[in-house]
Amino acid sequence: MPVQLPIIAIVGRPNVGKSAVFNAILQHRISIVHEQSGVTRDCVMAPAEHFGKHFLLVDTGGLGTLNGEKNVDLFDGMIREQVSRIVEEACVLVWVVNCQDGITSQDEEVGDFLRKAGKPVVICANKADNQEVAQMAVGTFASLGFKEIEPTSCTHTWGISQLMDVVIKHVPKVEQEEEE
Ligand code: GDP
Ligand code: MG
Repeated sequence: MPVQLPIIAIVGRPNVGKSAVFNAILQHRISIVHEQSGVTRDCVMAPAEHFGKHFLLVDTGGLGTLNGEKNVDLFDGMIREQVSRIVEEACVLVWVVNCQDGITSQDEEVGDFLRKAGKPVVICANKADNQEVAQMAVGTFASLGFKEIEPTSCTHTWGISQLMDVVIKHVPKVEQEEEE
């Protein structure tokens, strides 16, 4: 077995761009980006590296309704269990929110869950597609209670490296057994 990598988990309600952020961090498409909510049902993971720190990036597709119905429990059954386990194992959580929607009631629910988890959280204020929206992002999401807020636009592949610069500070350096 290789050395166990520290986990960076991407969390958030459906349709905010978790899979897009996952892909942007990895710079190639593995996860599924889709218009419809709940398309990525299972957690998708891939090893990656940033400034010499190796980690496992996990897209927790499951924090949300699975069948498109409204009023379905945000964290029901197995999905909740699966996401909880990943969150427990993660050293840092990237909480993706959508600048175009602002804070929704589902975001509030995710926030309650993450506060209880007690892990470092970096808010990724995604869909900040123009300068104006990006500048407002910190003010928009400050009330969620986490200090680190980084605007990104996956559409314009913008803000991802700044996001990772903040996220990576929470990742311990793990010695690789076999460096190439
Ligand atoms: P997830 O459900 O949180 O994994 O969200 P997805 O990554 O599947 O993205 C949901 C939708 O938002 C897709 O149609 C994406 O193309 C779109 N999307 C993702 N990032 C951005 C962004 O930065 N700006 C805009 N305008 N749309 C985005
Ligand atoms: Mg997804």
